[in-house]
Amino acid sequence: MTESHTHRVIPLQDLRPLSLPLPVAAQQPGQRISANGLLADTRARALHDLRISVTDRCNFRCNYCMPKEIFGTDYPYLRHADLLSFEEITRLARQFIAHGVQKIRLTGGEPLLRKHLEQLVEQLAALRTLDGQPLDITLTTNGSLLARKAAALKAAGLQRVTVSLDGLDDAVFRAMNDVDFPVADVLAGIDAARAAGLGPIKINMVVKRGTNEQEILPMARRFRASGMVLRFIEYMDVGATNGWRMNEVMPSSEVVQQIQTELPLIPLQASQPGETAQRWGYAGADGQYDPGLGEIGVISSVTQAFCHSCNRARLSTEGQLYLCLFAEKGYDLRQLLRSGASDADLANAIGHIWQGRSDRYSELRSALAPDTGAPIKRVEMSYIGG
Ligand code: SAM
Ligand code: SF4
Ligand code: SF4
Repeated sequence: MTESHTHRVIPLQDLRPLSLPLPVAAQQPGQRISANGLLADTRARALHDLRISVTDRCNFRCNYCMPKEIFGTDYPYLRHADLLSFEEITRLARQFIAHGVQKIRLTGGEPLLRKHLEQLVEQLAALRTLDGQPLDITLTTNGSLLARKAAALKAAGLQRVTVSLDGLDDAVFRAMNDVDFPVADVLAGIDAARAAGLGPIKINMVVKRGTNEQEILPMARRFRASGMVLRFIEYMDVGATNGWRMNEVMPSSEVVQQIQTELPLIPLQASQPGETAQRWGYAGADGQYDPGLGEIGVISSVTQAFCHSCNRARLSTEGQLYLCLFAEKGYDLRQLLRSGASDADLANAIGHIWQGRSDRYSELRSALAPDTGAPIKRVEMSYIGG
């Protein structure tokens, strides 16, 4: 437990933000935006990815995300009636797709805690993109329930998974999840996902200086030549509760340097526009990239902002649309849905909201949030999903 966590008192109601009003233009009949595809925000960024948080609950208490001191037994999680139902999620997803979304990621909290999640996967898998292709559907999980659920998720139409894993050393891993969960069970989950055909699997490791940097090389060794892509994520100042300090961020450049001391790497091209990870391939004996050895990714959210290509919208567990991971507030699509809005109304609202988007928090980070550790009212990652 860090000092900042023991001294920090944050009123619970601050964590549940108020909504933003719908853009005025969305309510004007002469300015309707129809569901006819491509949208651009104020910085010419298209809408391509939708992340959907299906629960605000989690069985882990990773200190960088849901610290125990805040997310204790008395934490006021959402009631079931407040969550979007699977039908509501699917209906909204259809309108996002009509505006160009091609990829959906289910997240949370821990998405596998949502009962019958495979039913949602099945409903989403039946949708088609604007050009008639199946959606790219994936899920980010802590892996704890994957061994039990991988086969059913695959059968429902899930294509692949990303598993979060912050180290291989059991003591380090148990301390980081802060609920004493053994690493062997997550590794078994990864094996089950592989056996079920949920690939290519990505493994996400958040690197926190002073906590798990000694796990970088063991993780690299373990996942090299495994067919899985290990990605190192810089510890971010998301939410308002994790007591973030810049000196706990390990820049991706250092991660790459550390791996290079033992396993030579070659920079690779981005595989698609808007990709958040910089790719590095393992070099073979001839010094060239060897696809058999695979690649790693580094996600430098803090040291190298990628807002200029950020094409993601986030739908919170209770149906708030967030335009940035660091936004203070979202737009209440659930209220719109439940007030009897038609599909065209929903598409119109989404269109106007996206067109008004100007968020670029990471680019502005140093000006907005100096490293003071001062509480900032921002939405929690467990609520809008990572
Ligand atoms: N519970 C699932 C999991 O852990 O994979 C899904 C939700 S979690 C919020 C999504 C991702 O966000 C995880 O890979 C997690 O490691 C990452 N994450 C959470 N807090 C973070 C932080 N402060 N900085 C960087 N990544 C963070
Ligand atoms: Fe739970 Fe994922 Fe957050 Fe860890 S990172 S507390 S597993 S939601
Ligand atoms: Fe996108 Fe916001 Fe992250 Fe920038 S800070 S990359 S706009 S989510």
